Amino acid sequence: MSTKANVLWKYFHKGEKQNSAHYATYCLGCLNNAKESLREDYEERVRDADEATRFNEEQKWFDDACQAVPSVRGDKHAFIAHLIGSKANKECEHASEEAKSEARAQRHAERDTASKKAPRTTQTK
Ligand SMILES: [Zn+2]
Repeated sequence: MSTKANVLWKYFHKGEKQNSAHYATYCLGCLNNAKESLREDYEERVRDADEATRFNEEQKWFDDACQAVPSVRGDKHAFIAHLIGSKANKECEHASEEAKSEARAQRHAERDTASKKAPRTTQTK
């Protein structure tokens, strides 16, 4: 695939490849939220741990967070639907404002392109 990476990737963690074209991805806002709720458990496990254990546990903490949040298909439309909602989805409660406004901008850009393809006969200005 040679498509330019969408800037929305910045707000998602790329996980396992689901099929030849798509990765399972996780919203960073949702991930951080899940991590916070697992923090106590993690800190308990590393309380007297050495460096190596700490590293492994931190890895596990992240993996557990991935398990806890629903994965999003790794493409632009799924990203936008997750961040600002769609008919089938509610908008994400955990994503940053920055991520959401980028998603809104991209959705608008798409609508503009779509309406140019099917020009209206009436023109205001
Ligand atoms: Zn999210």
